[in-house]
Amino acid sequence: MTGTAKLLHEGKAKQVYATDDPEVVLIRFKDEATAFDGKKRGTIEAKGPINARISSILFTYLEANGVATHYLGTAGERDLLARRVTIIPVEVVVRNIAAGSLARRLGLAEGTNLELPVLELYLKDDELGDPMINRYHVRALGLAADAELETMEEAALRVNALLAAHLEPLGLRLVDFKLEFGRTAAGRLLLADEISPDTCRFWDVRTGEKLDKDRFRRDMGGVEEAYREVLRRLEAGQGG
Ligand code: 5GP
Repeated sequence: MTGTAKLLHEGKAKQVYATDDPEVVLIRFKDEATAFDGKKRGTIEAKGPINARISSILFTYLEANGVATHYLGTAGERDLLARRVTIIPVEVVVRNIAAGSLARRLGLAEGTNLELPVLELYLKDDELGDPMINRYHVRALGLAADAELETMEEAALRVNALLAAHLEPLGLRLVDFKLEFGRTAAGRLLLADEISPDTCRFWDVRTGEKLDKDRFRRDMGGVEEAYREVLRRLEAGQGG
C-alpha cells in the first residue's frame, strides 16, 4: 500500500483503506484498545499484528469449512486484504458460557454453562451503548432483510460450532464472541470485521484463565501476553 492510499473508514481498532481494486480493501489493525463503548482507552503493545494474524488464521479456517467471509489474504504484518463490504449495523453475539453483559443482565454467576448456545443481536451504535435488539427492531429499522438476518444467525451458530470444536483441543474454551456481517456491492452477504481476543472471550480449558480483552477491561495485566498465547496456540493448531 502506498502512503497516499485513501482512508475509507476509521474505527476504534482498525482503519480501512482503498486499494487499486475497487472491490478490495486493506484493513489495518491498530494497537489502540477501547472498552465500554470507547469510554476506556489504552494501547496494547503489538495488538495490531497479533490480532491481524489471529483473524487471518480463523477466517482461513472458517472459509475452508464453507463459511463465506470477506477475507482474501494478508498484506503487511498488521494488514489484511478483504472484500469491500458495507457493514450491517447489527452485532451478532453467540454465547456458550455466561459472562459479561449476559451474566449481569440475568444475574447468572460468570462461568455458568448454558445448555444451548444463546444468540443475541445488538445495534452497532456507540452513542447508544450498543443496545440489545431483536428481529422486530431489525425489521422496523430496515437494518437487514429477513432472509439476510436468517443467514447471519445461521452463519453465527455454525461459526460457533466450528470455532469451539477447533479451539478446545488447543486448550481454548470459546465462551462467547461477536460477529459483524457486510454486503458486497453485488449484494452478497459475507462474514466481515475481525475475529480476535478483542471480539471473543477465550478461557484456558484447564485453569479458566482469561485470555482475551477482559484482561484490559478489568485492568488484570498480562494483556499482550494473553493475546500472544492465543496466537501461539492457534499457530500450533496449524502445525506451524
Ligand atoms: P458482552 O455483551 O458480554 O459485553 O460481550 C459478549 C461478547 O461479544 C464478548 O466476547 C465481547 O468481546 C464481544 N462484544 C460485544 N460487543 C462488542 C463490541 O462492541 N466490540 C467488541 N470488540 N466486542 C464486542
